[in-house]
Amino acid sequence: MSWIRNIFGGKSSPQEVLVKLPLVESWIDKTLADHAAQARPVSELAKEYGFTRLQEFYSPETLARMKVVVVDKVPMPPLSKMGIHGFREFERMKAGGVTYKDTYFVKKSEVTRESLHFHELVHTIQWDHLGFRPFMAAYAGGLGEKGYENSPLETMAYDLEKHFEENGKPLNVEDFVRTQLDMMQAQQPVEGKKRAGGSRG
Ligand SMILES: [Zn+2]
Repeated sequence: MSWIRNIFGGKSSPQEVLVKLPLVESWIDKTLADHAAQARPVSELAKEYGFTRLQEFYSPETLARMKVVVVDKVPMPPLSKMGIHGFREFERMKAGGVTYKDTYFVKKSEVTRESLHFHELVHTIQWDHLGFRPFMAAYAGGLGEKGYENSPLETMAYDLEKHFEENGKPLNVEDFVRTQLDMMQAQQPVEGKKRAGGSRG
């Protein structure tokens, strides 16, 4: 009963999660390999659906390099089966999209929502900039400490998505995200150190 584990502190510690990360990476690599045939450059899909605003925020190189897979249900890692506890809510989340490395998955029913593609592209840049282990550590750490919507990597993606949805001025999202991540990492090394004070960041 995962809720009992959650209430009584059955959550895996950050150290326990880090030990399990190779399992998560294997699962991610297998998932990407299983869908490789359906993955295509975001630029191609953007053209097909007539998206015009992604190009104002992402360079042609980024849109050509990052890949998208359209699926009925986005694949989420079976964390509890891997022995990683305390993320049940995340595991069961019926997400419209999810990003693994340079590829994101979107639910067929939401494929026309340009802002969803915008959001997942933010995550592809985060993955690219941080690399697997720091990304996972930051993501899982944020998720564990603050919950999904307030985890720092999600906050960054949602804030930018909001800007996009509200017809905000075009900006170079890639540069913006990389700068933000460098600042975050400078403030707080991703692994091995306790968060200083209670700063919300
Ligand atoms: Zn997200």
